Amino acid sequence: MQDPIISYQQMRTILSHISDGVVIIDRKFNIILLNKKAATIAGCRIEDIIFKNFANYFNFLAGGKPVIEEKKGKQLFLSWKGKKFNENTILINKNGETIKIAGSISSYRNRLGEVKGLLLVFRDVTKEKNIDLMKTEFTSLASHQLRTPLTAIRWFIEELYNEQIGKVNAEQKDYLKQIMESNTRMIKLVNDLLDVSRLEAERVSVEPIKTDVKKLAEDVINDYIFIARANNCRVELESEKLPSINVDPALVKEVLSNLISNAIKYSASRKGENIVNINIIRKEPNIQISVKDSGIGIPKNFYKQIFKKFSRGDNATKVDTGGTGFGLYISKILVEISGGKIWFDSKENKGTTFYFTLPLAGSQPKKGDRGLVSEEEGFYIKN
Ligand code: ADP
Repeated sequence: MQDPIISYQQMRTILSHISDGVVIIDRKFNIILLNKKAATIAGCRIEDIIFKNFANYFNFLAGGKPVIEEKKGKQLFLSWKGKKFNENTILINKNGETIKIAGSISSYRNRLGEVKGLLLVFRDVTKEKNIDLMKTEFTSLASHQLRTPLTAIRWFIEELYNEQIGKVNAEQKDYLKQIMESNTRMIKLVNDLLDVSRLEAERVSVEPIKTDVKKLAEDVINDYIFIARANNCRVELESEKLPSINVDPALVKEVLSNLISNAIKYSASRKGENIVNINIIRKEPNIQISVKDSGIGIPKNFYKQIFKKFSRGDNATKVDTGGTGFGLYISKILVEISGGKIWFDSKENKGTTFYFTLPLAGSQPKKGDRGLVSEEEGFYIKN
């Protein structure tokens, strides 16, 4: 029978063809195997660092702290089970370059299953990350530049429509109304773009304060009374008696607004009066909030995309041409930074229920330099 074990030489050949950096270290932190790519990322040559101490060449940092600490010894080796590097991991290499890293770390075992060291597989993602950052910065800049003229346009149309400048006939009013609707849609899009770029750059702060979630839901429902009525819809609230919890009310409000506005939008095409039910219950260790509609539902083949940016179901684009496909993407990030989860149940042509949770123990505060657009005076417009 052929020997299934590959030789060290063969292994080196295979490793030299892998486009990711591969390093194996033993329990004394010595590099026992590495490929050319790993050495290049470290700014060194293989022969200069093989069998040398890993920490001298691979200074992986996440949030300013070392990713692998020699001090932690045995425990450290056992704790890595195919873990991915954190999103923000960097490597400062021998040439002093800061390299953004993606990859994973696992314990490395011998044939008897004994942990013998660590296996690291990683790649340089500096370019990809920088392009992402540029995209985010561009979006933020472009949206800022669009804000002022769009609000100015809004103000002038309102003056004309309200006949502050002089009489306008019915046909002219109709034209102005349509300009106003398009302008509102553009403002909504710019608001969403700004929120997305702030959230993606992790600039939005989480400032938990004692919040009565039922009262917060009532406020959001009040904001939507006229929109609901115009769409032949009624929003009803049912809530268990619950304690106030420490969450950031602006973030929770935004999530509920998005879900309620969707529930109204995507039931409006159905006959008769449509009811949207908001239900708030205790489900240890969380508060669970649900928003139920009896609207168009979500097609099965769209389930996987629904929380992605720009995603819109085919049935939704038919009934509402103005959506941006940002609401649920934003809501998911907001729920997650508040310490909760979001999901849904749906049946096409029958209705949809979105659920999200908030921890009874409260959200973790997070420092950032921005809030959401909805917290800013004079620019926010509901969809
Ligand atoms: P938008 O509503 O602007 O399109 P969202 O991110 O809020 O963007 O929603 C993304 C898509 O998810 C919608 O276009 C629609 O296809 C689907 N969707 C969201 N909520 C509902 C709902 N309550 N009923 C049916 N489809 C929904």
